[in-house]
Amino acid sequence: MKYIFGPVPSRRLCRSLGVDLIPYKHCSFDCIYCQLGATVHKRAERQQFVETGEVIAELESALPCVEADYVTLSGSGEPTLCLGIGELIEGIKELTEIPVAVLTNSSLMSCAEVRKELLGADLVIPSVDAATQDVFERINRPCSGLRIEDILCGLEEFSYEYSGKLWIEVMMVRDINDSDDEIDKIASALTRIRCEKIQLNTVERPPAESFARALTQGALEKARRRFDDRAELIVASGIYQDADGSFHSPAGAGLGAPGIEADCGRVLELLKRRPCTVRDIAEGLDLNINEAAKFVGILKGEGLICAIRREGRAYFFANDGN
Ligand code: SF4
Repeated sequence: MKYIFGPVPSRRLCRSLGVDLIPYKHCSFDCIYCQLGATVHKRAERQQFVETGEVIAELESALPCVEADYVTLSGSGEPTLCLGIGELIEGIKELTEIPVAVLTNSSLMSCAEVRKELLGADLVIPSVDAATQDVFERINRPCSGLRIEDILCGLEEFSYEYSGKLWIEVMMVRDINDSDDEIDKIASALTRIRCEKIQLNTVERPPAESFARALTQGALEKARRRFDDRAELIVASGIYQDADGSFHSPAGAGLGAPGIEADCGRVLELLKRRPCTVRDIAEGLDLNINEAAKFVGILKGEGLICAIRREGRAYFFANDGN
């Protein structure tokens, strides 16, 4: 498969069948916390990266073999850089009843054409990590000319134009955007935006820069209290906590749950897109944890993947060129 990967375990989207529209790390940002590493092609110009018909044909053959809670446009860069994303969303909707989600860094939300193309999605998750230009530049390292105030205005407009679900993600990074002042400014900016949820996240997977460090659970909780009651905390291990304090786990993502057959190739495809623990692989591909560990051992033995430890957990990722 050239464009489709997963399903991958997702804390919010449960089993998310990924559609990768963008060549590796073409992005308008170079976020210090990016799990994919440094941005290789930093750009804010849109381009026709894929043929819609080819992506639809791949999905048509993949969908009967997978169980997914969302078809998610995300992957190796910023999906809204892809011209024709609206046409693709329409094509997927004609193919399946599985809801379509788009993860975006929001950078092109000031562009009316991009907003219009996203209207057909069932769920859009834009990220907003800053409310001031200085913090925006330090955390997201955007292409020159991108201004956070324009992005926030675009998001505000989109929130009134769009009738699907809108969840805003805020990635909190220690000593970068976690001051009371910046949090209050982000919280205040988001009051202008009509969204269902504000999801506070922190660095969990190995980041592009070692200085991008996670907030403690206590600091995240303290930050959440500075937002309005739409805010919720996303915590590790596939469990998320709602604003009312209740915890939820991904439906059907239990270890050993019956599901699709996996092989080393599928595990490798997953690890090309994101670093994962053995548990992530097991949950995302519906494998018993021992099977997942076995495939990881084989791929590691073949030199196709390697591991990095972070906060006591081993994350596996594909070596360059695989
Ligand atoms: S985290 Fe997303 S927006 Fe940021 S550099 Fe990585 S791919 Fe781009």
